[in-house]
Amino acid sequence: MKKIGFIGIGLMGAGMSKNLLKAGYEVTVWNRTESKTKPVVEAGAKLAKSPKEVAENSDIVISIVTGSKDVEQVLLGDNGAIHGAKKGDIFIDMSTISPITTKAVAEKLAKKGIEMLDGPVSGGVIGANNGALSIMVGGKPEVYEECKPILEAMGKTITYIGGNGDGQVCKAVNQILVGTAMLGVAEALVFAAKAGVDVAKVHQAVSGGAAGGWQLTNNGGRVLKGDMSPGFKIKDYLKDLGIIMETADANKMPLPATSLVLQMYRHCQAEGMLDNGTQAVVKAVEKLAGKSVV
Ligand code: NAP
Repeated sequence: MKKIGFIGIGLMGAGMSKNLLKAGYEVTVWNRTESKTKPVVEAGAKLAKSPKEVAENSDIVISIVTGSKDVEQVLLGDNGAIHGAKKGDIFIDMSTISPITTKAVAEKLAKKGIEMLDGPVSGGVIGANNGALSIMVGGKPEVYEECKPILEAMGKTITYIGGNGDGQVCKAVNQILVGTAMLGVAEALVFAAKAGVDVAKVHQAVSGGAAGGWQLTNNGGRVLKGDMSPGFKIKDYLKDLGIIMETADANKMPLPATSLVLQMYRHCQAEGMLDNGTQAVVKAVEKLAGKSVV
């Protein structure tokens, strides 16, 4: 059985690394804030002192940290995993980062004979804890096949998309869909409130029809209760919008709907709502309309 290294024991990494242990893998972990590794070490993981030491003890190194610069730091920086890896090792980066950075990192690793997959995820902390993530994979098909059992220990829907960076493009697509749907839900619910109809009844009626969907049911439901707590935080979504815009710029692609979504979330940022859930974009719409849903 392959020995696995795991870098980044945050909200997502905690559950994912535990699921690898449950599947019987030997796992060596590192986290910048060491105290967060305690539950995973108690569940049987070995603790390393650096990403380099993680790689020295592993055949496959998984990372899930915050953004592009953080991935570059833990994989390529001082004491980064690259310095402890040997030819033939595989790095799987599961953070949500820029496809452009992903390709650049994969090229640097390839020069040392290290293969890379990008495997960003969808499904949140619940999916991470339950081993039910959707994983969107980029990299060589044969490397994907080799790593599939490891990915299956952490996810339920695993889709091979294409070459390095293509998994991250797929995740960006997911985030375009999530944001445009959420802004549509917010606008529709404020529209109903402004017209003076019973918003809860409208929500119920339209949820079962062609307009139904995850954002309407879940985040729309939260809006009706006045619940702005996260699910998925606005500050994390703004990071993902940055990735989407960078990728669109590189491809000279206009994004009219997503650009509007970005401006609405910038309003939320200016209003100090970074730690609210993405459904709090309804506050920006309510301000424009001069009417609250609840
Ligand atoms: P999190 O709880 O904030 O954890 C972030 C992790 O990255 C922590 O372990 C943090 O270490 C580490 N980190 C950040 N910058 C670092 C650096 N420069 N050097 C070393 N370590 C660094 O975030 P999360 O929710 O687990 O998210 C991780 C990734 O998954 C992100 O790319 C996010 O977009 C993506 N994602 C999250 C969700 C979700 O619902 N949470 C869903 C899908 C995808 P410390 O503990 O020391 O801060």
